[in-house]
Order: sequence, then C-alpha cells, then structure tokens
Amino acid sequence: MVSSSRKYGVFRCKACGRLNLAKTGQKFKTCPYCGVKNRLSGRAFLAYASTPNEALKAVKKLKAGKA
Ligand SMILES: [Zn+2]
Repeated sequence: MVSSSRKYGVFRCKACGRLNLAKTGQKFKTCPYCGVKNRLSGRAFLAYASTPNEALKAVKKLKAGKA
C-alpha cells in the first residue's frame, strides 16, 4: 500500500538550486524558474506531503533551514 502522505515531493533544481514541488509519481519536472528538466529519482525528494498546501509548507521549512 502506498502511503497517501507521499503524494507530493519537494526537490531541489539541479541547475539553479531552487526548491520545487512535483507529484511523486512524476519522472521528470521542468523547473519553473530556470526551465531545466530535472529527473526525479526516489532520492531526489527532500520532503513529502499529502497536499500541495502541505508541500508548500515543507518548502518554507526547508528554505528556513529547519528541515
Ligand atoms: Zn531551476
């Protein structure tokens, strides 16, 4: 059973280093900041969330250096 709390993931763009959101089932995600296509492997994600809102909170935490 797949945990419903891992629907969304936070990853860091390999090119510009900014934090982005992606669905965890996605294989690739284009960075909205620099346009580089990032490959999303299982370990690409720094944090997980069940909703986009939670994912945004996780991004804020990561940016604040609390995660
Ligand atoms: Zn980028």
